[in-house]
Amino acid sequence: MAKIVAFVNQKGGVGKTTSTINVARYLADLGKKVLLVDLDPQGNASSGLGIDPRGLEKNLYHAMIGGLSPKEIILSTETEGLHIIPAAQDLAGAEIEMVHIDAREFRLYSVLRQVRSFYDYILIDSPPSLGLLTVNGLVASDEVVIPVQAEYYALEGLSQLLGTIELVRERLQPNLKIMGALVTLFDRRNRLARQVVSEVQKHFPGPVFETIVPRSVRLAEAPSYGKSILDFDAFSKGARAYKAVAKEIIAREEAVQ
Ligand code: ATP
Ligand code: MG
Repeated sequence: MAKIVAFVNQKGGVGKTTSTINVARYLADLGKKVLLVDLDPQGNASSGLGIDPRGLEKNLYHAMIGGLSPKEIILSTETEGLHIIPAAQDLAGAEIEMVHIDAREFRLYSVLRQVRSFYDYILIDSPPSLGLLTVNGLVASDEVVIPVQAEYYALEGLSQLLGTIELVRERLQPNLKIMGALVTLFDRRNRLARQVVSEVQKHFPGPVFETIVPRSVRLAEAPSYGKSILDFDAFSKGARAYKAVAKEIIAREEAVQ
């Protein structure tokens, strides 16, 4: 049974999509069967893996709202063992349409339940909000990774996010755990960034990934070629970091078994 992990932060541009894509790619490289779920109407995870969501007839929307089997929307990627459920702009409408349907927080859960046994990991890339789509992602997940940008204001809004996770735990998914905060976009020449890292390590009420993802131009360039960092520049510092993050995730799982 797959472990389902949502990458969540309502703040925009903190590295959710970059982290989801590259962790997924490295988990596949380490021999795991991985499904990446693009839960963001922006479709960045889809396009970042070379899939143009506008050119597709079906996407996550049609499974969450239209009742289509996920098997009809899962696509394979260039990487063996890495599949994706793409998203497109119509998913933004789902947020509104879902308000009127039963068990609206469980739509994604019901979709993923149908394919969970085929994978080792299902990673969910969330949109930058705490709306119903993100709540669907949390309810469907076993664990949450919170990418945190190493910059001023990084920790602002984190208590709101932790509050939402707590509410989901109390009312919808009691077993939801925080896998960890992941510091991203770190510039070691920047004193403030170093302060943010120690703040997170000291005050984040949960585990923090040992790996810190550096700011790296190569990581920012890769999505415009539709490639993960492993396929774009496997020897860059960003590549090494995401490989280490994937290994931490696997190691943690092995430690509890
Ligand atoms: P959104 O909230 O809009 O979905 P996000 O949290 O998913 O954003 P990303 O899209 O992963 O964030 O990253 C925001 C921007 O920063 C992108 O242009 C991305 O390429 C770039 N970026 C992400 N991580 C890094 C990094 N470590 N080094 C350099 N650029 C990065
Ligand atoms: Mg994103």
